[in-house]
Amino acid sequence: MDFEFSKELVALKKEVRAFAEEKIRPMADKLDKEARFPRALFAEMGKRGYLGLPFSEEYGGKGMGTLAYMIAAEEIARASLGVALSYVATVSIGTEPIARYGTPEQKEKFLRPLAEGHELAAFGLTEKTAGSDAKGIEMKAEKVGDEYILNGTKQWITNANYASIITVAAITGYTSSGEKIISAIVVPLNTEGITVTSPYDKMGARSSDTGEITFKNVHVPQKKLIRARNGWFETVAKCAKWRPHFDCSDFSWPCARRV
Ligand SMILES: Cc1cc2nc3c(=O)[nH]c(=O)nc-3n(C[C@H](O)[C@H](O)[C@H](O)COP(=O)(O)OP(=O)(O)OC[C@H]3O[C@@H](n4cnc5c(N)ncnc54)[C@H](O)[C@@H]3O)c2cc1C
Repeated sequence: MDFEFSKELVALKKEVRAFAEEKIRPMADKLDKEARFPRALFAEMGKRGYLGLPFSEEYGGKGMGTLAYMIAAEEIARASLGVALSYVATVSIGTEPIARYGTPEQKEKFLRPLAEGHELAAFGLTEKTAGSDAKGIEMKAEKVGDEYILNGTKQWITNANYASIITVAAITGYTSSGEKIISAIVVPLNTEGITVTSPYDKMGARSSDTGEITFKNVHVPQKKLIRARNGWFETVAKCAKWRPHFDCSDFSWPCARRV
């Protein structure tokens, strides 16, 4: 079995390393000390195609696959854990659910600007009552006509202040035995009723933006639902293939959270 990278991947690794050494490493310490998110740097990474590495060329991605993306994550993490954390959050948990499960219409609207590198994405599972215990969420998405009305608060959301969209897990109903039905819904973060705050003073990865997002009577058209009726858990399980990317940039995560 051949475990060597292809010529294309070797070239990518070399390119991202050079970029990270030249553009990220020199400012990494300062960004971390000042807890400052480098939005301009992400614009440059977007122009270079790094935000679209694994996504289909049909929707503006590079079509280079998961390994290419993991190589980029590892090289970025060599220079800055904070930048790498925001990078993996926007590409994988932020964008992948739409790439994997979105309708063609949702992909055109949401995936394309992300894969082309113009925008950033976030992912919202964690709440006061839900972390490791993902089913503990309390956010409600009540169906009224052809809309969902969202109420609840998501905590510890990476890229909260800079993402254009978030895919949230919300309760869309209950089974006859009273179990929650949890669905995934894409919500543009400029929708009325959304408030983003930054209550965290992290110990590490401080250049990665982390915020709390409150949804108060946020109206979302039904067509923004990407996985209905507990499809959310299948979504997360299928996206588990993305888990290794966090390991690529994971060495100091325990320091990220001030306890
Ligand atoms: C920097 C940062 C960025 C984040 N970004 C996001 C994001 O973008 N989106 C998002 O949704 N969330 C995000 N999170 C939240 C993260 O996903 C949660 O912190 C994580 O799921 C753990 O949940 P918790 O903090 O509630 O800890 P808990 O679930 O309370 O766990 C605390 C400890 O108890 C242990 N534990 C829990 N259950 C058990 C059990 N049954 N048996 C044994 N041990 C157990 C855990 O391993 C852990 O060590 C982020 C967190 C951080 C620190």
